[in-house]
Amino acid sequence: MSKQPILEVSNLKKYFPAGRHQTVHAVDDVSFSLEQGKTLGLVGESGCGKSTCARTVIRMYDVTEGKIVLDGTDITNLSQKEMKPLRKKMQMIFQDPYASLNARMTVRDIIAEPLLAHGIVSGKSQSNDLVYEMLERVGLTREHAGRYAHEFSGGQRQRVGIARALVLQPDVVICDEPISALDVSIQAQVINLLKDYQEEKGTSYLFIAHDLSMVRYVSNDIGVMYLGKLVEIGDAEEVNFHPLHPYTKGLLGSVPVANPRLARQKKKSSIEGDIPSPINPPSGCRFHTRCPHATARCAEELPAMKDVGGGHCVACHLYA
Ligand code: SF4
Repeated sequence: MSKQPILEVSNLKKYFPAGRHQTVHAVDDVSFSLEQGKTLGLVGESGCGKSTCARTVIRMYDVTEGKIVLDGTDITNLSQKEMKPLRKKMQMIFQDPYASLNARMTVRDIIAEPLLAHGIVSGKSQSNDLVYEMLERVGLTREHAGRYAHEFSGGQRQRVGIARALVLQPDVVICDEPISALDVSIQAQVINLLKDYQEEKGTSYLFIAHDLSMVRYVSNDIGVMYLGKLVEIGDAEEVNFHPLHPYTKGLLGSVPVANPRLARQKKKSSIEGDIPSPINPPSGCRFHTRCPHATARCAEELPAMKDVGGGHCVACHLYA
């Protein structure tokens, strides 16, 4: 019997009101599950709903519809007070480490704060050993503990953000574009740090990114989102090397390559046009306004998600 996923998201919807009689369909009927010790990468252009999806899953936002089960507990409609003890199990690493760290707190206090909030230690002095251990684990030193966020480089600040998220030893970490704001030279270091930690502790990551190249390096599975919908999901190698959905193919065509001949070939398959507004998303398949294979049916009928084999699922009439 297969093990129960640590996180299960079913038919999740998150809509926001946008003025009179208008609604942003930010996340629209998204389902996925995350196994213990694994990473699910969620990719798509900015505005596709991947970050809103992550923030709804961690219950920063209320759920419009659907279900979120964390380690067997239905957290869909829990109040913020009811969520508090469960926050130990699910933490978040943010894209902008500077904005997410309190400028008035020392690094020691930033990392100790969740330990105190969850009653894991009863006083600051008790938290010191855990804070030092965490700093060393993320590649900083105990000498950094007394400093403030502005004294660090972007990469170091992200390490502090990671230390704060991991200090509670959560089961699930939502990584919301954790490397997008970092220099390329630092990105690999941060990724390796997360991977090493996962190997040791069996942590599960929901890894949000717009860059498919980085996601395929960190993920076991990849989900591709377009305008609030999941359009393809499956094993990372499969989605990467045998993409099915025209949008995924286009995204892969957008990944920069060093070889100029290959780069020209890839450019031909990249996506034309801008992502439409999620306020009035296109009818039928939401990608039909940009899809080179669109037919009349695509504008009328929403394609259902279909497993084409081995858990590789795609929502496109070409595979119906
Ligand atoms: Fe393109 Fe139609 Fe498939 Fe949508 S359903 S991706 S428009 S072929």
